[in-house]
Amino acid sequence: MSRVLIRVNLVVLFTFLCGLDGALTAAQPVSVPTPSEFLGFQVGADGQLADYGQIVSYLKKLESLSARIKLEDLGPSTQGRPIILAAISSEENLKNKQKYRAIAQKMADPRGLSQTEIDKLISEGKAILLVTCNIHASEIGATQMAMEWAHGLVTARNPETLSWLDNVILLLVPSLNPDGQVMEVEWYRKYLGTPFEGGRMPWLYHPYTGHDNNRDWFMLTQKESKAVNRAVYFEWFPQVWLDEHQMGSTGPRMFVPPYSNPVAERLHPLLWRAVDHLGTMMSWRLEQNQKSGVIYGYVFDAYWPGGTKNTAWWKNIVGLLTEVASCRLASPIEVAPAELRGGGKGLAEYRRQTNFPNPWPGGTWRLRDIMDYERIASDALLEVCSTHRADLLKGKVHMALDALTMGKAGEYYKISEQQSDPVAASRLAHLLRENGADVLWTSTDRAFYLPTQQPMARFLDEVLTKQRYPKIKPAASTDYFTPYDVTTWSLPLMMGVEVEKTTLAPDLQKTLRPIEETDWPESGLAGAANPAVYAVSHQGNSVSLLINELLKNRQRVVRLARQAFTSNGRSFPAGSLLVEPAPDLADLAKACRVRLEGLTQRPEIATDSLLEVRVGLYKPWAASADEGWTRWVLEQYHFNLKNIDNQAVKSGSFAQDFDVVIIPDVGKDLILEGKSTPREGAIKYSEDLPPEYVGGIAKEGVKNLKDFVEKGGTIVALSSGTELLMAEFNIPVANALPSRSEEFSCPGSLLRIKVDTNHPVTYGMPAEAVAFVAESIAFRTAVTGPAVSKRVLAAYPEDAEDVLVSGWMRGAEKLERTAAAVALSYGKGKIVLFGFPVQYRAQMESTFKLLFNALHWAGMSEATTKTVSD
Ligand SMILES: [Zn+2]
Repeated sequence: MSRVLIRVNLVVLFTFLCGLDGALTAAQPVSVPTPSEFLGFQVGADGQLADYGQIVSYLKKLESLSARIKLEDLGPSTQGRPIILAAISSEENLKNKQKYRAIAQKMADPRGLSQTEIDKLISEGKAILLVTCNIHASEIGATQMAMEWAHGLVTARNPETLSWLDNVILLLVPSLNPDGQVMEVEWYRKYLGTPFEGGRMPWLYHPYTGHDNNRDWFMLTQKESKAVNRAVYFEWFPQVWLDEHQMGSTGPRMFVPPYSNPVAERLHPLLWRAVDHLGTMMSWRLEQNQKSGVIYGYVFDAYWPGGTKNTAWWKNIVGLLTEVASCRLASPIEVAPAELRGGGKGLAEYRRQTNFPNPWPGGTWRLRDIMDYERIASDALLEVCSTHRADLLKGKVHMALDALTMGKAGEYYKISEQQSDPVAASRLAHLLRENGADVLWTSTDRAFYLPTQQPMARFLDEVLTKQRYPKIKPAASTDYFTPYDVTTWSLPLMMGVEVEKTTLAPDLQKTLRPIEETDWPESGLAGAANPAVYAVSHQGNSVSLLINELLKNRQRVVRLARQAFTSNGRSFPAGSLLVEPAPDLADLAKACRVRLEGLTQRPEIATDSLLEVRVGLYKPWAASADEGWTRWVLEQYHFNLKNIDNQAVKSGSFAQDFDVVIIPDVGKDLILEGKSTPREGAIKYSEDLPPEYVGGIAKEGVKNLKDFVEKGGTIVALSSGTELLMAEFNIPVANALPSRSEEFSCPGSLLRIKVDTNHPVTYGMPAEAVAFVAESIAFRTAVTGPAVSKRVLAAYPEDAEDVLVSGWMRGAEKLERTAAAVALSYGKGKIVLFGFPVQYRAQMESTFKLLFNALHWAGMSEATTKTVSD
């Protein structure tokens, strides 16, 4: 194998000699090892994978030997690994990276620039291309390719590649999910050479979100999305973003844009022209290199904003996706021609057609193939970004200036702090700022204001309003397209925050200043100086955080008012929190962003006291994103939480460790047997996991769960997690929805629910709310005798017309007169069934409290006090 030699410049050599290994003199050419040479195994070969630590060490080696690569640490991943971005360009460009970042920032926000200034910046600026790999950890080929690509670019001597590096600054992120990359490689190495080689891991490949890490890019809850978002919208301002993925094994070999329908309404048409041109260049180069099976206009649409490069479309970035067929991590597969399948939008049958002119014939498919396709496509993108450097910069300015015309001068989105949950309102304002929008604050009326005229106007208009799915038909005689993913992302509805458009008087405009880190509602202690008791309504989610902090001190008395009351001229609804004065209370309230009102007299009302509960969250031996999100949300609010596995349920050992069990959105068969039932007509074969992960809770586990509740425990079940209870427990509840998607389908929409607010589980909720429904469950309930107390906590409207608030659904009439949430007694214990994911992807702040309250309810002591003064 030939080594490529480059001559390092003095600056690099100086750093090299000062800090790192080797003792070279300026006269010697430096040999830059290939990834295989450096790591000591053949990268890309069957059975071989470099883990994230090795990848980073290789990139550091390149940085030590070449001035064409500079690494940036974007911050720690969830488990503390550095998220690395490698800036790769000509030595000259990297030396002037601050200058080029500043130009890119002005291109992204050209307000106030003259055309002459813009033209000058366009002629001086570089195209900034971001390429991210491996957000889905098992889609691992790109992490290996990234090392080879970096080596190729750093060592290139041909004029063509050098001109690309002159025109473009490439930002290469070898893994958007370092923790998952390491998990996958460790799993792969452990079972290499066994019957389980290349098989699936029985847990999430991101510590909390698994596959949903690519659904977090507007809500920005996770460390990885936050870190990369910061680099994109506050540091580098790229014009183009390619996110490299892998897909199934038996269809096309690679998807490149153009995307399939539908296209989101508010996006700039110029964006799609650029996407199409860049994508087509990639498939052209692939075809020239005899890579068959490349498709465009297939499955992946241009509609929802949850993913990396998708969110970026609304922020005027040309976002591209590639998806390469998968093998089994680094183990090859054999695909028989008879196994090749079309299906999905854009390729009904596996046949030659205009978007798929050269079908792959079948055969062996391996990691090396994946890396080769990705490398050709990546090089082609770099090439076309170089060729069209000025067009990309011009396009960026054009889209940003056009976005300004979506609003009016003096018009703002207003987010007032005076809302039922002031913390959620402020959180929304900070989140929009984190997304890159201009957010202003004034203490005059304690409100955040976002100008409607700003480069991020498309994004704001999208996430601050309701969604309607576009009605597009592939042909006149066919049905409309149905959604690929969720169909709503209306942040005000999801977070329970009111946002209005308003025109501001000039004198109020003068008081606006940019939002600061410290712009949060006043918290701590207020009201009477030496109060008898402190109180706060239960409307804000942060009250649950405070309750959990208070309950850590077992001596402390924490109560909830069972009815509404008035004190010191203020009215407090049922469920309001009552706390005794204590020296640490002010600090606790501040830390939890809660404002406690001191009352001179104790209200004469019935209350329930709370105890801390030990929460067990069921975790199957399968990747359950809902389990991960539930864990994440409950951790943010400091619930005392641990996972429960099949063995603990089967043996019954969980009963002594927990007071409440949560069953997340996991189907009955997976819980019982460890396997999901295949769809009708599907192949029944399912691949075995290693023996320690086989099976479910079995009949013994069901009996143990029943005993647990009968003796006083609580079970809270979410979405399909309720199936187990409806099937195996004798409860008067059943699923009201048909299983056929032709009759009912709701892949992710906000639906109206009517809430019975006078129950501990619904304290703080408004009488009308929205539920995020994602192929969820609705309940029919039966009338019962005195043995069971049953309460419908929330129900869908009686008229189908009133059901859908934002998004898309089919069969709304199936929800008429059905329940969305039910609470039941069972023996001495309690059961709460939520038919919809109340904590959905950590996005549904407006219904978080249903879950929190269910857990508080589990900790309500049986001996309740009549009055606080008892
Ligand atoms: Zn993916």
